[in-house]
Amino acid sequence: MEGDLSSLAKQELRRQVVIVGSGPAGLTAAIYTGRANLNPLLIDAPADTEKQTTPGGQLMITTEVENYPGFSQGIQGPDLMVEFRKQAERFGTEFLEEWITQVDLSERPFTLVTDDSIIRAETLIIASGASAKWLGVPGEAKTPNGFGGHGVSACATCDGPLPAFRNKRLVVVGGGDTAMEEATFLTRYASRVYVVHRRDKLRASKIMQEKAFRNKKIEFIWDAEVAEILGTQEHGVTGVRIRNTVDEEHFTLDCEGVFIAIGHKPNTALFKGQLEMDEVGYIKTSHRSTATNIPGVFACGDVQDSVYRQAVTAAGTGCMAALDAERFLDHLPVEMPTGEEVTIEGEHISPDHLKIIRASGEVVLNEPEQAG
Ligand code: NAP
Repeated sequence: MEGDLSSLAKQELRRQVVIVGSGPAGLTAAIYTGRANLNPLLIDAPADTEKQTTPGGQLMITTEVENYPGFSQGIQGPDLMVEFRKQAERFGTEFLEEWITQVDLSERPFTLVTDDSIIRAETLIIASGASAKWLGVPGEAKTPNGFGGHGVSACATCDGPLPAFRNKRLVVVGGGDTAMEEATFLTRYASRVYVVHRRDKLRASKIMQEKAFRNKKIEFIWDAEVAEILGTQEHGVTGVRIRNTVDEEHFTLDCEGVFIAIGHKPNTALFKGQLEMDEVGYIKTSHRSTATNIPGVFACGDVQDSVYRQAVTAAGTGCMAALDAERFLDHLPVEMPTGEEVTIEGEHISPDHLKIIRASGEVVLNEPEQAG
């Protein structure tokens, strides 16, 4: 850290609120903190296909969004993100498109380092999202290099109801809860759903497995890996080439859509070792707030949510993170994952509200002060 911090060429920025990430969670946090006159600085990574970063997040690689409330006729994912961004700009959000290379959360103000800047933040809102995992097989890349967005998707809830997939044969790849949920969901629209799984046992919970097994439209293809997604730029996906993982035989399965459901990867590598995360890398937050284990650092959106993962839930938690940061900067207590409440002065209030532990370590009873 020292080497970078002492670099003379970098500009130094000091801000009350710094937001990392420009998807629905980060931009909603920007709208709220902007309207609260906190002049948020939002840092987003430049677009990079190899690193799978897109300013605006996962909606930038989605086509039509039909389930974001307020748009009765649906809206294209990228158009929705333009609106989010304009709204954040309107309330004074400052944008910085730079790669963050280092982060120091050991003391406040927190420090973030990019190639050109050193940023000191009184509060930090992490909204860096999650990326769908991909197979990395031919035909999977975004069109025109493959059929991504033209028959290949990583989100059944987003894309399943689109006309292109109605009454069609669809393939779902994966054997976890997401694959079972997506396969079951897709049977509402598809004529047939093939679940292609690389082993002969599912990883999904019993209840989700049984639901999928009972569904007559779902057929399982065991010990099978998708080796290639086939199609034409004119018609989109026409099939998948499958490799049997036991006998190595290959065969072609005709289909018109492929949903990759092999899990997501939260974008948290930058914060590893500094913030509490679960075994997959999702940041742990309090159940009743967006507080992380470090007072003044908040997390919202998919970076802390492996369950709901919707644009609207991300925006909702972005709003929560903004209100939590505002409270913290206003010297009000914010609930931590441990249940205790913490103030910007470093006071800890016990979960039962009976004790206050001052920053000095002194313990006092949480009683109203006696009048006169
Ligand atoms: P997951 O549990 O990690 O399952 C991923 C699946 O994809 C596994 O079956 C895995 O196969 C397969 N897979 C991984 N990489 C692959 C590759 N390169 N090629 C082929 N197959 C591959 O992920 P998830 O299903 O997204 O679930 C993530 C978490 O969210 C879980 O804790 C889950 O319970 C939770 N979740 C809950 C719900 C719900 O309760 N409604 C819904 C969705 C998700 P192997 O089994 O062979 O490793």
